Amino acid sequence: MTMQLIADSIKFSYGLRAAVSDVSFKAAGGEILGIIGPNGSGKSTLIKLISGVLRPTNGNVLINGEDTTLWSPRRLAQTVAVVPQDTQIAFDFTADEIVAMGRNPYISRFQSITNNDMDIIKAAMTATNTSQFAGRSILELSGGERQRVIIARALAQEPKVLLLDEPTAALDINHEVEIFELVRRLTKQKQLVTVAVLHDLNLAAEYCHRLLLLSRGTVAAYGSAETVLEPENISAVYGL
Ligand code: ADP
Ligand code: MG
Repeated sequence: MTMQLIADSIKFSYGLRAAVSDVSFKAAGGEILGIIGPNGSGKSTLIKLISGVLRPTNGNVLINGEDTTLWSPRRLAQTVAVVPQDTQIAFDFTADEIVAMGRNPYISRFQSITNNDMDIIKAAMTATNTSQFAGRSILELSGGERQRVIIARALAQEPKVLLLDEPTAALDINHEVEIFELVRRLTKQKQLVTVAVLHDLNLAAEYCHRLLLLSRGTVAAYGSAETVLEPENISAVYGL
């Protein structure tokens, strides 16, 4: 069965101000939905609503028809993985320790890691070409290498839905392309529903099957890259 993620008129307010309002979209397994829009338009809030970090004040997030707000945190973490924008790792973990954290939603408190977990960790590192960093401190890796390790951690969660919030904001263009090539390949191979916030409209056009353009928390345009990236839409929203 093809995975399906639906946002059905979701709304969220921090206090009195709505940060996301009446946002709806559908995303399918094997495809990348790109979320674009100016700073403060609600992109990160939308990612947090899909991942369950925030709960919509109205509307629903549905995965294969099920309302995810009814799910346990463990079940949600077994289904949805997040790659944040700026991965701040304060402690001196090795790359393989970071990837192993992806198994946490599967391991109960007094249990330790199994051979099956080890196999999944190894496969995630192979798929992201990070095996060679296994014993090295995450702090000594370059930004692009570190982001690949974080993607490996997300894969180790064996998610059905992969959320990325400006995963390449801190990287130069060559490494941005490398990360999006990886994300595209994994999305196809594992038939993930991938939702990525992008700051670069060229990358959005190149890698996303569909785009959602946010303006002040509402949907300004939604559909194919060609329609969403029409100059009228872009100038109206970005004020160019
Ligand atoms: P984007 O990711 O598109 O830059 P955000 O989702 O981070 O936008 O923010 C959307 C709006 O919500 C902004 O006006 C922002 O100031 C506000 N906002 C974000 N996080 C919080 C918060 N924790 N408390 C109050 N307001 C917030
Ligand atoms: Mg943001």
